[in-house]
Amino acid sequence: AYDVLIVGGGPAGAAAAVYAARKGIRTGVVAQRFGGQVLDTMAIENFISVKETEGPKFAVALEEHVKAYDVDIMNLQEATSLVPGKLIEVKLANGGVLKSKTVILSTGARWREINVPGEREYRNNGVAYCPHCDGPLFKGKRVAVIGGGNSGVEAAIDLAGLVKHVTLIEYGETLRADAVLQRKLRSLANVTIITSALTTEIHGDGKKVSALTYKDRGSDELRRIELEGVFIQIGLVPNTEWLEGTLALSRHGEIEIDAKGQTSLPGVFAAGDVTTVPYKQIVIAAGDGAKAALSAFDHLIRSSVT
Ligand code: FAD
Repeated sequence: AYDVLIVGGGPAGAAAAVYAARKGIRTGVVAQRFGGQVLDTMAIENFISVKETEGPKFAVALEEHVKAYDVDIMNLQEATSLVPGKLIEVKLANGGVLKSKTVILSTGARWREINVPGEREYRNNGVAYCPHCDGPLFKGKRVAVIGGGNSGVEAAIDLAGLVKHVTLIEYGETLRADAVLQRKLRSLANVTIITSALTTEIHGDGKKVSALTYKDRGSDELRRIELEGVFIQIGLVPNTEWLEGTLALSRHGEIEIDAKGQTSLPGVFAAGDVTTVPYKQIVIAAGDGAKAALSAFDHLIRSSVT
């Protein structure tokens, strides 16, 4: 059995693996896709001490760092259930069962997509999901933010300070964000708010985004906006479907953790985008992965399991 079994091989899982292995304990990492979300991005400019890198390069660096230690990496393996016990079991889609004294869950999250033509085609070429990451790429340009909840309105406020013009598009009749955010948004001169609007297509020239079409839900008319960027802000989906009913999840499906990364199950810790931690970012996920590994080690030295 492992001392620490990490499920998920993104920045959180990789950091947890390095920290656990450096304690000299038996460490395993099982990941569907080692690297995680960073494989889907190009420019990363906010991981402190690395001024600029590319997602796939960053993913290789994560893997190299973990491989420098004695860690079992089980890539391309999906965990399908977790069974608590003195030895915790993690069952895999391939029928295998892994056993460990402690488990760190770091299965990350995925952006909720709007599923319209153009979204996938122009991902990273005008279609973006993270204003903290990609906002500066649109300096002086025109963008739309889709989604009028807190994250959409925060993104629009954030982007308005960088870009030339922001159009916020909300499907419902009113914005759903907190009143204080809505007031701030409405005070900005370079923001237009459109409600009752269903985005139907993102257009481009084959390389980059050039416009967006939405349907006015009042009149059923189609309207087109010329722009260079579309930020989709309709929520993050944590990868916790496989854990439902096993441990405490928030109403958004995120794993509830305390300040040490402890979940509601003894010996089970969690880190990164899959948890309730606010602000989903690489540097934050990596820091929390380190923290979860130290907490798992602390649990091991205090528990009677040998
Ligand atoms: P993830 O990176 O999501 O990794 C999750 C891991 O778990 C993966 O290995 C996955 O395969 C695995 N997994 C999932 N389910 C299972 C399962 N059932 N069994 C086994 N393994 C499983 N952040 C920044 O700080 N700067 C940026 O510039 C930036 N740009 C981004 C651009 C894009 C397009 C995207 C999508 C995100 C960006 N982010 C950026 C956010 C950043 O990528 C995440 O915050 C970070 O990757 C979270 O790390 P994580 O380890 O928690 O999860």
